[in-house]
Amino acid sequence: MFKEFLEAAENEIQLVRNEYDNLQNEENQITERLNEISEIRFKLVIQNDALQSYVTACTSNRYTCPSCFIRNRQTIEISPISSQDANDIFKCPHCSLQIEVEI
Ligand SMILES: [Zn+2]
Repeated sequence: MFKEFLEAAENEIQLVRNEYDNLQNEENQITERLNEISEIRFKLVIQNDALQSYVTACTSNRYTCPSCFIRNRQTIEISPISSQDANDIFKCPHCSLQIEVEI
């Protein structure tokens, strides 16, 4: 067989191997991203459950930080701080979330 035909065949094999490697890398990236999305979805489900609990907890007259409650299930009471205008500003001492409440 001609040497050139063998070289052409080896070139083709190398191209196919390169394409396979590229697709393998792409598959790995997609798998990694799917795992990340799955973790995010799991966290969102938990946070949604926490949100439902928060809404239930809000029936009491205590002001609880929604961020700390939903993200970490921590019940941090927040109180109004002095503000420049007529509205009340509540600030969480734990995560520093501020909520302005119109009066
Ligand atoms: Zn907080």
